[in-house]
Amino acid sequence: METNQNTEVLCLEGLKKSFGDLLVLDNIDLRVTKGETIVILGASGSGKSTMLRCVNFMEVPSGGRIILHGEQVGKENQNGSRTYDEKSLSDLRSRVGMVFQHFNLFPHMTVKQNVMEGPRTVLKCDQAECERRAKLYLDKVGLGWKADAWPSELSGGQQQRVAIARALAMEPDIMLFDEATSALDPELVGEVLETMKQLAEEGMTMLIVTHELGFAYTVADRVLFLSKGKILEQGAPEAVLINPKEEATKNFLRGHG
Ligand code: ADP
Ligand code: MG
Repeated sequence: METNQNTEVLCLEGLKKSFGDLLVLDNIDLRVTKGETIVILGASGSGKSTMLRCVNFMEVPSGGRIILHGEQVGKENQNGSRTYDEKSLSDLRSRVGMVFQHFNLFPHMTVKQNVMEGPRTVLKCDQAECERRAKLYLDKVGLGWKADAWPSELSGGQQQRVAIARALAMEPDIMLFDEATSALDPELVGEVLETMKQLAEEGMTMLIVTHELGFAYTVADRVLFLSKGKILEQGAPEAVLINPKEEATKNFLRGHG
């Protein structure tokens, strides 16, 4: 049982990322407290995906620090730069769950096998523990009854909920969602948002990139507006979504109202 409700799960300090000459993340500072749900908004190209991808090192940051549960990722070199060995990256990735726009379930595995795969291969859990997790997390997303189905037999919304269960089965410290509902038919969006809302209410720590503003308003503890690789504005949902200060935020909201 966690006693300290203010535990910092993730801290980004001066995070930078460039692709060649293009500076995509420009000094991002962010502290994420245990149980916090943060929604990240921003125009296309503002750096939202890159920010999430840096958090689990699918992209290696060009500068700054990423601290997960008080521990900085990677090893410091004598000249102050950092190297990221595969062991520390794979440790990190097993503690950071990620759900993408395109749920890539393994098509040749049943739903249950999909959920068991990470615990089995990465965490080396025994069969009983893998089964326990599969049941627990498929039930959590309301798909225990589909355990033996093939991904192709599920709707897009169900597949995305399995992808969430698969990420949860690693029992991560934080969950990242990158436009998890953007590729879904409109009638399937609600069930996935509902699952995410339930996770937020259960105290999961989450960073969510979405254009679903109604969802952001009801579920976020904090909303960030990213513009040109910087956090231009942040605050409670009412502040950022109803009374934004910045012109760029107002423009974005007009376009997505
Ligand atoms: P968003 O998710 O907010 O739409 P991204 O983080 O995907 O934005 O992209 C931010 C910027 O970085 C864009 O200009 C994009 O073209 C560029 N970018 C992203 N990934 C790469 C990459 N692997 N190589 C070069 N440029 C990239
Ligand atoms: Mg993106």
